[in-house]
Amino acid sequence: MAETPYFVKVEEALKISFHTKTQSGLEIVELDDAFQRILAKDLNSLVNDPPFDNSAMDGFAMRYEDTINPPKTLEIIGTIQAAGQEDSIFVGPGQAVRIMTGAPIPKGADSILQVELTSTDQSSVTLQKEGMKHFIRKKGENLVNGEVALKAGTYLTPSRIGLCATMGHKTIPVVKRLRVAIISTGDELKQPGDKLERGEIYESNSFGLAGLVKWLGHQPVRMHSVGDSLDDLRDTLNLAAEDCDLILTSGGVSMGDWDLVRKIMEDEGDVHFWRVKLRPGSPPLFGLWKDTPIFGLPGNPVSSHVVFRVLVGPWIRNATSANGPVEARAFAKLASKVKPTRDSLTLRRVSIEVTKDGLVAHQKIHQGSGNLASIAFSEGMVILQPGREYSIGDMVEVMIL
Ligand code: AMP
Ligand code: MG
Repeated sequence: MAETPYFVKVEEALKISFHTKTQSGLEIVELDDAFQRILAKDLNSLVNDPPFDNSAMDGFAMRYEDTINPPKTLEIIGTIQAAGQEDSIFVGPGQAVRIMTGAPIPKGADSILQVELTSTDQSSVTLQKEGMKHFIRKKGENLVNGEVALKAGTYLTPSRIGLCATMGHKTIPVVKRLRVAIISTGDELKQPGDKLERGEIYESNSFGLAGLVKWLGHQPVRMHSVGDSLDDLRDTLNLAAEDCDLILTSGGVSMGDWDLVRKIMEDEGDVHFWRVKLRPGSPPLFGLWKDTPIFGLPGNPVSSHVVFRVLVGPWIRNATSANGPVEARAFAKLASKVKPTRDSLTLRRVSIEVTKDGLVAHQKIHQGSGNLASIAFSEGMVILQPGREYSIGDMVEVMIL
């Protein structure tokens, strides 16, 4: 692999991998199944939102001019609690209508006063303040019928799914979930629940990676974990390539003799890059196995997690033209000394404290790349640029976990 790009910057790794796309189809789902899916087409509203002028408050509707110089006392001529009841009502001078939040505004009225600022007897209301014109929610003020409200590529959060319903859609077109094979490698790995023998550890990467895949709206396919055997690995890769759109392996991509993922990819696959200027997480490779894109992730649990967030997540988003979900980024003030590296983008796990002066980042936990607790107990990762020095008190960029 003489010309294979080696030990590339993160941006270069992204650029190289983005040249490889995958086919992702479209399917129609019910709104109840739309959570964390990616909208496949622009979605336009089938109605105006709101569909009619309505009250933003429980209170009274009347003519604004009748409310100037409060207190003012007006005659109550009716109650509007739901659509239809306003048809027979016309609010004339000196009159008011009791109205509930969301109920249609009757003809004649052009202002609302909330019930808290009124007092009533049997047939009249006394207003303590002027009526508020902005408490009338105008027809179409949020969305106009036909307007494209959600674009193709939108990641469907709960509020966006609600918006689909507001727009009148019962079903929506979403990107078909990518099937993402996850293959753990290593003779030392045991499934949680089994008894550990000497030298063995519980296999954890596939569970963390499966969660990350689901979070992006796709379907993890956990393959059985393979020992350090080229034949097993080849068979499992072949199965994965037939059945899945993307393959993730963990372990076996470093320089060691038993790093069989790297070896089999060099000998029988197509490697597009190997090793990245990223800490933790420098060993990964990307390429094709039988035309199926494959990321070889490091075995160390923190490294595999970081590489997913920094390389695999962006690749999946790019391949499916999805604009989310992305980790929130923020700036925080360093409260601990953190160690950058000379040539790599370095991510240190930190606790984030919210103070009145902004976010403060503390590095509280042992940063070993085998220490999964360092991510599990942290709220963020500070992003340290290669070759720079950082002091306590500096503002640094953080990826919120
Ligand atoms: P490797 O990249 O295969 O050399 O593995 C590096 C380290 O990560 C070793 O300590 C492995 O035991 C550990 N490791 C590899 N795969 C997994 C996994 N799926 N779950 C947990 N730890 C792993
Ligand atoms: Mg290994």
